[in-house]
Amino acid sequence: MAGLTKIEWEAIKRRHGNKCVLCGTPDKDGKLLEKAHLMAKSKGGSQYIPLCPNCHTKYDKGMLSSTQLKKLGLTPEMYKKVLPKKPGTTSKKSSQDLLGLKPLPKSIKPIRIKKSSDGKFKIEDLF
Ligand SMILES: [Zn+2]
Repeated sequence: MAGLTKIEWEAIKRRHGNKCVLCGTPDKDGKLLEKAHLMAKSKGGSQYIPLCPNCHTKYDKGMLSSTQLKKLGLTPEMYKKVLPKKPGTTSKKSSQDLLGLKPLPKSIKPIRIKKSSDGKFKIEDLF
């Protein structure tokens, strides 16, 4: 973590009452809380907040509720922007897409229209 000395980090923790900003878990031995990097442009650029390992993981995975985000001074829109981009979450292309074949939507069935002996049209499923 560049740009943050131990003294600065201690000061940040103290400012937040030496506890997790989200769930309030106290920093018992001074080792529990983790630095969560927060990018909040409206608050003057990047900053660090103390989070317990649980909340830090949730934060990084994008699992925080809007109520929790409010505690961090973030809106859900801002949160989306600050989240690290994860590889592999973009829609996977199926092998059919790669071959240029589009599967038929399930609601569309191939049918055949037949004229029956009494002059009426009859629709038949081709299955
Ligand atoms: Zn927490």
